[in-house]
Formats: sequence, structure tokens, C-alpha cells
Amino acid sequence: MTIAAHTLGCKLNYAETSDHLRRLAAEGNTIVDFHQKADLYIINTCTVTAVAEKKCRNAIRQAHHQNPDAQIVVMGCFAQVAEDEIKRMPGVTQVLGNESKRLLSYSGEDRTRTFFKIQDGCDYFCTYCAIPFARGRSRSATIEETLCAARRIADSGAKEVILTGVNTGTFGLHQGETLLELLEKLDTIEGILRYRISSIEPNLLTDDIISFVASSRAFLPHFHIPLQAGSDHVLQLMHRRYDTTLYSSKLQRIKELMPDACIAADVMAGFNGENEEEFRKVLSFIDSLPISYLHVFTYSDRPGTAALRLPEKIPVAVRREHTARLLELSEQKHKEFISSQIGKKRPVLWEATEHDGSMLGWTDNYIRLSRPYSPTLVNTVEEVEIRPENIVRE
Ligand code: SF4
Repeated sequence: MTIAAHTLGCKLNYAETSDHLRRLAAEGNTIVDFHQKADLYIINTCTVTAVAEKKCRNAIRQAHHQNPDAQIVVMGCFAQVAEDEIKRMPGVTQVLGNESKRLLSYSGEDRTRTFFKIQDGCDYFCTYCAIPFARGRSRSATIEETLCAARRIADSGAKEVILTGVNTGTFGLHQGETLLELLEKLDTIEGILRYRISSIEPNLLTDDIISFVASSRAFLPHFHIPLQAGSDHVLQLMHRRYDTTLYSSKLQRIKELMPDACIAADVMAGFNGENEEEFRKVLSFIDSLPISYLHVFTYSDRPGTAALRLPEKIPVAVRREHTARLLELSEQKHKEFISSQIGKKRPVLWEATEHDGSMLGWTDNYIRLSRPYSPTLVNTVEEVEIRPENIVRE
């Protein structure tokens, strides 16, 4: 059989699709590009915004157009919440919810870096978020099972592992284990030189985890800590489990122990109650923090969420304008972070793909660098001085 897949949404979905394709190829199927004619199309969907859902529908239509006789299997978050709608679309033969997904999966991006899903689902029910409906309650494999999968990744030759999950900080909580215990054991696995934690809620990023990362063998000084709003009033409306004081204390702790750490934050623009006055607080709070850059999202209503019942909706045009201002602030923060690193030497893991005679790699603190291509450096770590000429702007 020829099989093609298309993935929308987060790194978790990418890890899961990759896992399926690896298994299907091992069974003797041929994997082809999604734009080609195939016998079977797999579409792994996302429901995070209305735009993401539209892209899912388009991908289904595209697959059906390319081969009207093909089987089309639709899986993932949008499949979970809109099963009936998707079943009615021409060509769709099967709709699989998230329950069919495996608890541990991993994907190779380049052969040097791997996204490793260690946790799924979420129990938090933030008022804007449909993910708990789509992905279900928080769950994870045991530490022992997770370590077995990590050893397989080490055997595959990948040197950097990015630990992903919907709410990674809740790893193990339902079975009396903790994320910190897992991190300590992962650190001892031979062959894996670097780990990043893809994202962790501020209230679950304990001081012990921060201290561990600072003193560990392989965990890198790179954090992704969702902020969502920079005003306590809006954080409360979102039902987030921290306030701005807790958030800034975590960042201070990180910078005390790891002054060159890269810290990224998710921020949502235009949630209910975030009027001009609250938004000014958001901008000045973010400006005061040692954040390296932002992932900015524009709020959109998600069916079934508690936010639909909240007053003080922000007009869509204002949401867009706030998004643009946050993106500007992110750009400024990123420039400041990069300037602070010029002249410093940081370890870079060089990747396999050749780009016009150059090779690319990430420093431990997540700066993209390039150098002339050298096959012997692929998948090795080299200390490199950060200079304006070797920085890649993406
Ligand atoms: S922590 Fe909140 S925003 Fe994140 S997945 Fe859970 S409910 Fe959604």
C-alpha cells in the first residue's frame, strides 16, 4: 500500500504521526508525500483554533481530490470533537479519536533531534481551552516504560530529545511518580547528549526542577513556560493556577542559576476582560521579565469552553491589534536576548541537512547558528562563538 500523512497542530501530533508511519513502513508499506496519489491518507488533526479546524477540512478535501478511491483516516483532536461532521465528508473511511493514540511516541525531525511524547491529556480546564475535551484526562506511562522508550531513541542515534506533552508537569501524578524523578533517570541514559522540556506550566515548574536542570548532565538551559496573560485579573478569568508574582519568581530563579538561559512564553491576545488598561499591564509585565521571545496566539471562542459564558468580550479587531503589539514586543525581546549572547561560546548540535553548502544547529540556549557544511560534524556537539555572521534568523 502507498500511504501519505498530513499533520496539523502541535509537536505531540507530529511525534504520533511519525510513530504510525514508522510502524506502517516496517510492515512493508510505502510512505509517499502527502501531495502524491496514495492508497491511504492519514490526517492527524488539531482543534486549537477555528483556523486549525479549517486546515483539517482542507487537508481531507485535498486527499479525496488526489485519489477519490483512497481510504482516508482522520485522527486527533478535531476528529475527537467533531466526529459526526468529519464522517460526513466525502472519502472519509474512518475517524479515530485520541484514545486510539499510543501513550509513548517519538519522531525524528532531522536525525539528530527527536520529539518524545511522555504525557497526554490535561485535567486543568483553563476556561479558554478545548484540549481537555479533545485529548482527555492527564495520563502517562510509568517511569520504567518511559525509560525503555528513551533507550530505543538513544539506540536510533538521536543526540537531542525534546520531551513533549499536553501538560508535562503532571507526568506520573496519577501513579505516585513525579516529573523530577523521570528527569533524574533520563539524565543517566547513555548516548543522549541533550534534553529540552518542550513546555511546562509555571506552577508545576518547581524550584527543585530548576535546580536539577542547572546541575544536570544533559538538560539544557532552555525553558518554555506558558504565561497566557500578564495581568492577575485576566489570569483569574482564565482559571490559570498562578499569578504574575509566582511567574516572575520562577523566571528570576532560572536566571539566578542559569544567566544565559533562553526562556520562551506563550501569550494569548484578546481574552475576555483584557481591555486597554489590562493590556497595558500585560505589556509592561512582559517587558519587565527576562523573557527571550513569545509565542503569541489570538484568542478565539472554542465550543464547549467556560469562556463562552464570560462577559467583556474583546472585539476581534482589537484582538488582532493586541496580537501585533505583542509580536513587536517579542521581536524586541528576542533581539535583546541575542545581543546579550554575542561573543559567548555555546555548545551547538550540528544537524544533517545541507542548506546551500551550510549546516545548521541550535545552541543549548536555543540560538540558531550556521557554518560551512562538514559531514564529519553531523550529529556532534561543538563549542561555537556566537557572532552576528553565524546567527540564522528564522
Ligand atoms: S493547562 Fe490549560 S491551556 Fe494547557 S492544555 Fe490544560 S487546560 Fe489547556
